[in-house]
Amino acid sequence: MAKELQYVKGIGPKRAEVLNRDGIMTEADVLEYYPYRYVDRSKIYAITELRADMSYVQIYGRFMSKQVVGEGSRKRLTAQFADGTGAIEIVWFKGMNYVADQINTTDHFLLFGKPTSFGGRINMAHPEMEREPDRAKFEGKLMPIYSSTDGMRRAGISNKVMQSIVANVFADITLGGIAETLPTELTRRHNLMGRAQALWTIHNPSDLQTLEVARFRMKFEELFYVQLALLRNRNVNLRKSDGISLDKPGAHLSEFYAKHLKFEPTGAQKRVVHEVWADMKSGRQMNRLVQGDVGSGKTLVALMCMLIVTGNGKQACLMAPTEILANQHFESLTGELSGMGIKVAMLTGSVKSKARKEVLAGLANGGIDIVVGTHALIEPTVTFKDLALCVIDEQHRFGVEQRAKLWAKNTRPPHVLVMTATPIPRTLAMTIYGDLDVSVIDEMPPGRKPVATEHYYNSTRNRLNAFIRSELKKGRQAYIVYPLIKESERMDYKNLEEGYEFTRQCFPEYRVCMVHGKLKAEEKDEAMRQFSSGEAQIMVATTVIEVGVNVPNASVMVIESAERFGLSQLHQLRGRVGRGAEQSYCILMTANELARDTRRRIEIMCSSTDGFEIAEADMRLRGPGDIDGTQQSGVPFQLKVADLARDGQILSFARDCALETLKDDPTLSGPQSAVVRNRLMELQSTSVNWSMIS
Ligand code: ADP
Ligand code: MG
Repeated sequence: MAKELQYVKGIGPKRAEVLNRDGIMTEADVLEYYPYRYVDRSKIYAITELRADMSYVQIYGRFMSKQVVGEGSRKRLTAQFADGTGAIEIVWFKGMNYVADQINTTDHFLLFGKPTSFGGRINMAHPEMEREPDRAKFEGKLMPIYSSTDGMRRAGISNKVMQSIVANVFADITLGGIAETLPTELTRRHNLMGRAQALWTIHNPSDLQTLEVARFRMKFEELFYVQLALLRNRNVNLRKSDGISLDKPGAHLSEFYAKHLKFEPTGAQKRVVHEVWADMKSGRQMNRLVQGDVGSGKTLVALMCMLIVTGNGKQACLMAPTEILANQHFESLTGELSGMGIKVAMLTGSVKSKARKEVLAGLANGGIDIVVGTHALIEPTVTFKDLALCVIDEQHRFGVEQRAKLWAKNTRPPHVLVMTATPIPRTLAMTIYGDLDVSVIDEMPPGRKPVATEHYYNSTRNRLNAFIRSELKKGRQAYIVYPLIKESERMDYKNLEEGYEFTRQCFPEYRVCMVHGKLKAEEKDEAMRQFSSGEAQIMVATTVIEVGVNVPNASVMVIESAERFGLSQLHQLRGRVGRGAEQSYCILMTANELARDTRRRIEIMCSSTDGFEIAEADMRLRGPGDIDGTQQSGVPFQLKVADLARDGQILSFARDCALETLKDDPTLSGPQSAVVRNRLMELQSTSVNWSMIS
């Protein structure tokens, strides 16, 4: 029985509470609190080499002076520290008297801390210090660096303290007390390091090579269990979910194909429709993800799949994340299907009273064949006569649980087609959607020209306006998008409103409309209508237009304060243009001064229009946890050591091993699966966002 944290040496009740709050509940959790990086303690930097974006570094030199400055809460101790190449200011806000006693101007000191920038100068706050250090002690030693939260810092859990806590836990449990969590057969066959040794090594690496072997083992374990959980789940689904079998493509699809199709589907669109049909006639329930970059024509794929369903006398629904998008889908579906005798309806939050009753009745009695809507479709009051397919557009806005509610809308679960324009990198898709089959639309409709992307500084606004005007003169339209990070930010609204007024003044000869989240549904519709009909030539908007909006005549996308958007959002926004045959442009407006990461994002946008490439870059810049929607999309447990952006190969390997394990024992109920079964249960019982889809 493991000790409670508060009884571990160096912790105590107060710190235990802080650690608990950060999810560290047990001694085992302490051991899985992995260092996020290591510092080579033999390396000493020259002060002139220091940059604010560096992580922890060591410098070696002497203090030249010290003084207390400031008053009250701004009171601090500062000291000049020099090493022969230059000098740097060191600052302490706490423990000033103690520190002032420790330092002098005669001895040499080794400082270890993080350079930061203050008022344009580099300084260092609260470094660890060693007087007249024994340099040999640090030779070749890799020091683990643990991430710390505010709470941890306030409770005095510095990196040094964390190191000793980890050491105390190891002393307590002993290596013999750490259970192996992978089947022996697997570790032996693939020559993986044992769990106890791997954990020990990660916290106390002797050298980089051994560290890598240890990290590989832990990463593998993590990814193996993620895959195992997802794949077993899918196995369970496959085995139990009899699906609604649609055995003919039906008359609707062939009639549409022969008479209503405006353009020849691309090869990729046809292939995906075939894949979907193969699923829908298999007798099993379909769970398929269609990935296609913005503009690749997912809507047509959805439409053709829905026609297979209606052609078999059943119902289909198309669910979109915003009313604007639902509206647009409704309009285009009614247009494309007119004269075919297929009844299409719309259901959103703003369809009220009588109209709503009629739609609900039509869905329940089968009078309606296809319904387009928003979240409103999930509500329990919505029942269907025979729902056979749910298409979910732009899935990243929908959580796993919402998906699951749709399953319950028929006695046999309807087929589910999830369409996403978020170009999720393959590795991530495999992890998040391990339970779904994936189809990719990897071909753009013919004649598309890649959107030309340029970076303008705010100071060149005249050039920008001249450019917009030249496009409008050609009969094109333009979007100007403002960031609205939180719908409640007053400042942002002010920027938006001002931008709207300013645009109207700059373009008096054109009509400008505006869309944002606070408008009433009718106002939004009206603005969208003006823009899509061409009555308005410029649309000033927030990111409500980010997903799905389709106005092919628009050829200019101006993104204001582009530095405030993430890469995937920029890519989505850019996808609103370049939908027709003309050359389109995306202009990223930014302030003159940019942080390094931001500049990198802008550069990536200007150099690539490939959504997958951009998503990979995004993941490398931000780490996978931050990618839109992945948090709630169902990675079954949090990854502590594996990094989806970098560990794609380990992921594939882990997936193969998981498949093999399941091949031998699909439900993991045999005696040979005891180790994995138990570990999986343990992981799932402690994870927060695990939700079974069944
Ligand atoms: P997305 O995949 O981003 O949802 P859409 O379905 O909105 O893309 O399609 C983008 C544009 O491309 C639309 O204007 C649509 O009419 C057009 N389109 C779709 N498929 C084809 C095709 N096979 N040939 C030509 N244009 C197409
Ligand atoms: Mg779309």
